Parts: sequence; structure tokens; C-alpha cells
Amino acid sequence: MWRRRLIRSSSFLFTAIFAASLPAADNISVLGNKPRWDVLEHYQQTITHDEFAHLINDVYGTHGFAPDLIEIKDDTARILMNRGSQKFFTLRFAAGDSSRKVVPRLWWPAKFLPPARQDKPLSSLRIALDPGHLGGKWAKMEERWFQVGDSKPVQEGDLTLCVARLLAERLRGLGAKVSFVRNDGEPTTAKRPDDFRKLARKILIKNGVPQPRTDVLDPTDPAKEQTIHWQSEILFYRYSEIRRRAALVNFKLHPDLVLCLHFNAEGWGDPNNPTLTDINHLHLLVNGSYLAEELEFDDQRFEMIRRLLSRAYEEELPVADTIALRMARETGLPPYAYPTTNSTTKVGASGYVYARNLLATRLYRCPVVYCEPYVMNSKDVFARIQAGDYQGTRNINGVERKSIFREYADSVADGLVEYYSKMRGL
Ligand SMILES: [Zn+2]
Repeated sequence: MWRRRLIRSSSFLFTAIFAASLPAADNISVLGNKPRWDVLEHYQQTITHDEFAHLINDVYGTHGFAPDLIEIKDDTARILMNRGSQKFFTLRFAAGDSSRKVVPRLWWPAKFLPPARQDKPLSSLRIALDPGHLGGKWAKMEERWFQVGDSKPVQEGDLTLCVARLLAERLRGLGAKVSFVRNDGEPTTAKRPDDFRKLARKILIKNGVPQPRTDVLDPTDPAKEQTIHWQSEILFYRYSEIRRRAALVNFKLHPDLVLCLHFNAEGWGDPNNPTLTDINHLHLLVNGSYLAEELEFDDQRFEMIRRLLSRAYEEELPVADTIALRMARETGLPPYAYPTTNSTTKVGASGYVYARNLLATRLYRCPVVYCEPYVMNSKDVFARIQAGDYQGTRNINGVERKSIFREYADSVADGLVEYYSKMRGL
């Protein structure tokens, strides 16, 4: 339920084009930026035909796409910039591995970091921590809130921030330079839902709701997603917020790696009387697996090609695989299996990592590992969240356990130590 609902709500927005504010020929996704195709000139002859074809076929374009969008020839790839004007970008391939030019990038792959001491395997590494969502007073709006009876409400944005603070301390101890994409319960965007009412209305009309209602009748209103109220809220807390975080990452923080920290959930139904389940699992995400309809958008197609050419995947996949295996070992969680393969593609060797085109994994211009451990409304995780953070172990449901926050932070840190120690020959 949880997943289905998110996919439905986001695809509802994906189909929106607000052409009125842009020249008619542009096809830009919600709050998206006009692509700067000229930037791709810097990537001429930095990739061979075979590497490019592999990344398109096995990572980014796994769901197929219209044939005129990307055409791979022997020496070049022809990428559609704008269908209306029939403009194309021509990417020239490197003839072979030896003639390949250097890939321009603002982040350091592990193998190019300066030498490190054995006890500081993360020295010189710049890591940005992105605790998912907002939490606090925004948690109900974000639909990342539930409460069982009189117990402490579970708010994902607060849990992820707690993990991020514990993780920052450990990573700094290991030599990393750590920054926060968010370090309190407030949005990074200066916009608020009211700023998006006009756009919300436009999106709804474009999506076949000719006379959108203003307000949600009550939280269980089945048509709430078709109200200006609900749409303007999601434009604020997801689209505007994540785009603002991307600006922070790309223009201010300049990290070598971003860790997006989340907790997963299964459908909980009524947030005031939530369903608790025995199901619990783990998975991690990297960028890829674009849908055919997503690649129709000029901005998403451009961002995908820029990301592919930056070779972020070569770094983020092995980082994700290594963290995943550590987390699996330390949490004991089985891999999550998506109910369909409609929006994801399994990648890597661990069995826990999927490619998916999320806003954060697409827009942050460096390797991004997106963690989705623990089902918040599983009986076990719920009890551990209620126990809060503590040192050492405590008996929870008959098992001696670390605090869930420390188990999360420690397993991510241990995965990073393993990966960077190996890559730096420590
Ligand atoms: Zn989340």
C-alpha cells in the first residue's frame, strides 16, 4: 500500500508539464531546470562506445525509450535535445581505453584520494549526510507520521536526523569531512505550500481534473490527491525541498559522496490506528532505471546523460554493495523485493541494491547511496524506535539489541571503512 500510493502520487506529477511559464517547445518536468546541453561538450571522447552502450542498456535505460531520444552509432551517440525543433546533441566516443580523455568532475573517486593512515581510512573524504524528509511539525503533512495509542509518534524525518548525527560523529572519527544537507526539523526551501497553489491547480487541470477542489475533506478522503491543498503540499515538501537540497549539495557542499538516510515502511492504513506487521527488510538505491515517460522530459534526459558521463555509477554501486552487505550482517534483515519491476532494476552483486530514478539520486552531482533499511511499522522496529537511543544493548522483545539508531549508523560506517580501506590499500 505504502509503495503503491507513492508511485501513484509521483507519477501523477510526472505527467505534468507547466508549459505556460516556458517556451512552448520545452518539455520540462515539475519545477525542473532548462537543460544546459553545452555542458556536455566537456565530456567529448571521455567514454568508449561499449561503456556508453552498457550503461544505457543495463543501468539507466532498462525500461526502454522512444528510439529518437538516444541513438547509439559506432563512433557517436545522438541525443535528442528538443523534439519540437529537432535539435540533437552529438557525443563523440573515445576510440579506445588508451585514447579516452579525462572525465571532468568535482568529486574524488576513492582511488584518487591522497594516501591515508590505517586508523583514518576516510581522511580527505567529503561526505554529505542527507537525512530524509523533514519530521517535526511537518511529519503529518509529509505522511511520514503514525501513532500507536498514546505511544510516542513515529516520524521518519526525526529518526533519520538522529541517525545522521550519530553517523557524523563516527565518520569524523574516521577522518571524513562531514556536512549536513539538513541538520534540524526545518525545510531548506524558503517556499511554502501556499506558494504552489497556482501551479498545483495547473497540474491538476492538465491531468484531467478540470475543476480541482481546494481542500481535503478529511484524512481518509480517497480523492485528496486531486485537491489543490494536497498537491501544493507535495510540491513544497518533496519537489521544492529536494531541488533546494540539490542546489546545496551541488553549489555549496561539493561532497565526494552523499548518503541519503531513510527508514522504510509497509502500508500502515490509518495513521492514528496503524497496522503493525511482521515484515521487515533492507534495500539500498542508486540512480538509474529511468522510465520511458521520464526520459521524454528534456531535463531528465539531460540529467541522466550528465550523470552517466560523470561515472558516478562506477563509485556509488560498489559503495552501496559494500554498505548493503554490512548492514545485512549487522541488522540481520533480508533483502526487500519490489512487488513489480516497473520502476526499479536490481543491480550489483549483493542482492540488496536497486537502481531507481529518484529526485535526489538524479540531481545530486556526485555518487549517491540511498539507504532504506527497517520497516518502521514492523512490530520489532516499532518497539526499538519506542526504546529510543541508548548506549550498549537492551532486551527488546526477548533479544539483546543495540539502539536501532546506532545499529544503523554503525553498519553504514563499517561499510564505508571496508570500501575505502580496500580502495586505498590500507
Ligand atoms: Zn523516506
